[in-house]
Amino acid sequence: MAHAQVSNNVTIGILALQGAFAEHQVALQKLSCQKKIAVILVRTAGDLSACDALIIPGGESTTIALLAKLAGLLEPLRAFLQNKPVWGTCAGAILLAQAVENTKKGGQELLGGISVTVARNGWGSQIESFEAPLSIDGLRDPTTPFMGVFIRAPVVLALHPSTENPPIEIIARLPLNVVPNAQKLMVHDEGDSDPRNSQSIVALRQGRHMLTTFHPELTKDNRFHEYFVRICVLPTLL
Ligand code: GLN
Repeated sequence: MAHAQVSNNVTIGILALQGAFAEHQVALQKLSCQKKIAVILVRTAGDLSACDALIIPGGESTTIALLAKLAGLLEPLRAFLQNKPVWGTCAGAILLAQAVENTKKGGQELLGGISVTVARNGWGSQIESFEAPLSIDGLRDPTTPFMGVFIRAPVVLALHPSTENPPIEIIARLPLNVVPNAQKLMVHDEGDSDPRNSQSIVALRQGRHMLTTFHPELTKDNRFHEYFVRICVLPTLL
């Protein structure tokens, strides 16, 4: 009797048009997981169609969006977001936002998928980039801080929860006393008594999608990759 072949693999794509995609690849390849992880560098709609989940790396969101448009990937990416998990780091987080402020002249294409507004370069310019230890309960080995690397990172200006979308879960906040230029944060008062409240959020999840405004792939610590696979990806395969 013929048996249907049961695949024990999960295929994770990394959008590889520009930015830190190679570092994400290394982090995923080092991950031990209950399923075997196959990693694909995604440059075409065909590559994307083979993926169970996708990571959009840091880099430059306007460049990534432009290259995605030229590759005919914008609509396939938007369709992918409708039912597959996606994690965006830094520039990738900007692309996943519903709205962005402080864009380059002429604005920029977004993919959407997460109900937040972000500001590009919200902590300042390249010379104001910084690292900060984050304590994060949901990660494996939670008592060990995770080193957040913030390079011209976006700031979360506002959350837009609604009954039509999954709730937004805050994974990590940045203690504002460690930010070199916290006093320069844009004030964006949407009726919240502390307008900096959303601005301290540096990692969040909405359903199967996740964003981190920093770069876990630039450290040797792959606990965020493990978290994405465990919390966002594996449950969608059941
Ligand atoms: N500021 C960049 C952008 O707008 C993001 C920087 C990064 O990914 N390190 O895309």
